[in-house]
Amino acid sequence: MAHALAPFYLSPPSFQSLSQHIREIDQRSPLFQLRSAGESVLGRPLWYFFVGEDSAPPTLLVGCTHGSEWITALLLLLFADSLASALENQGEIAGICVEPLFHGRSLILLPCLNPDGMEIALYGPGSSGELAGQVDAMIQGNPGQVWQANARGVDLNHNFPAGWETLREMEIREGITGPGPTRFGGPHPFSEPETLAVRGICEAFAVRQVLAFHSQGEEIYWRYGGRTPGRGLMVARLFSASSGYRVCDPVGTASHGGLKDWFIQETGRPGFTLEVGRGKNPLPIGQLPGIWTKLKETLMLSILV
Ligand SMILES: [Zn+2]
Repeated sequence: MAHALAPFYLSPPSFQSLSQHIREIDQRSPLFQLRSAGESVLGRPLWYFFVGEDSAPPTLLVGCTHGSEWITALLLLLFADSLASALENQGEIAGICVEPLFHGRSLILLPCLNPDGMEIALYGPGSSGELAGQVDAMIQGNPGQVWQANARGVDLNHNFPAGWETLREMEIREGITGPGPTRFGGPHPFSEPETLAVRGICEAFAVRQVLAFHSQGEEIYWRYGGRTPGRGLMVARLFSASSGYRVCDPVGTASHGGLKDWFIQETGRPGFTLEVGRGKNPLPIGQLPGIWTKLKETLMLSILV
């Protein structure tokens, strides 16, 4: 079903426009339950949708862990939007009927884990309320649109307890010794409300696999340490076949402390990082339709397999 994207997807979001769109999607299907996993440092709700049967172990999709990668929040909302439309009209996505998909299955879709970082990347330190002065000092003349951290200058994908001490040593070798726009892992693992919120979801639900969306590179990461399940590679290859993205292993500071790393280490279940799109962050909004076209079958498969 080819159709033009709704106006919401044609320009970069604000947290306000994102929240409004989330509420509109929620009202379109009784299968969607809108909840908040907690609040960001600056008190913005960490919205998520639970879709499907309560008793079924969900797949968890997480977007916008890094502020400058806000296009991933739009990608996940576009998926939610498309699911809601298909549920209204007995429709399909990528040739898969949506309504039967949720019989005995469920999905948790958290489009924006880092709303404060998204606002900083898009609108600068002035969006940070009481922390505006501190954020301004941390940017130190660098272009604010490449901001990845949360409002306290902690990189959320360095804040999970998976090789965190090793990662800290790597950060220091790279000259990262304190809060800033990127790669600082925080005072200790799970020091931030945003990472604690994800842990809360994983504890409250028997999450069966996690997909964390980042940009960019058209890559799929699936491995972390000795508990990585064999199924992880098989599913990564399936996602690769459906999207054209490459199956990869991480290098350097991207190799510890992330959501997928912690999830695999903690549960022994599959966890993935998908690097969407190509180019230089922040990816332009004009890439969204192409990213969606490549990934919509993969997103559907993430519920199904
Ligand atoms: Zn990222």
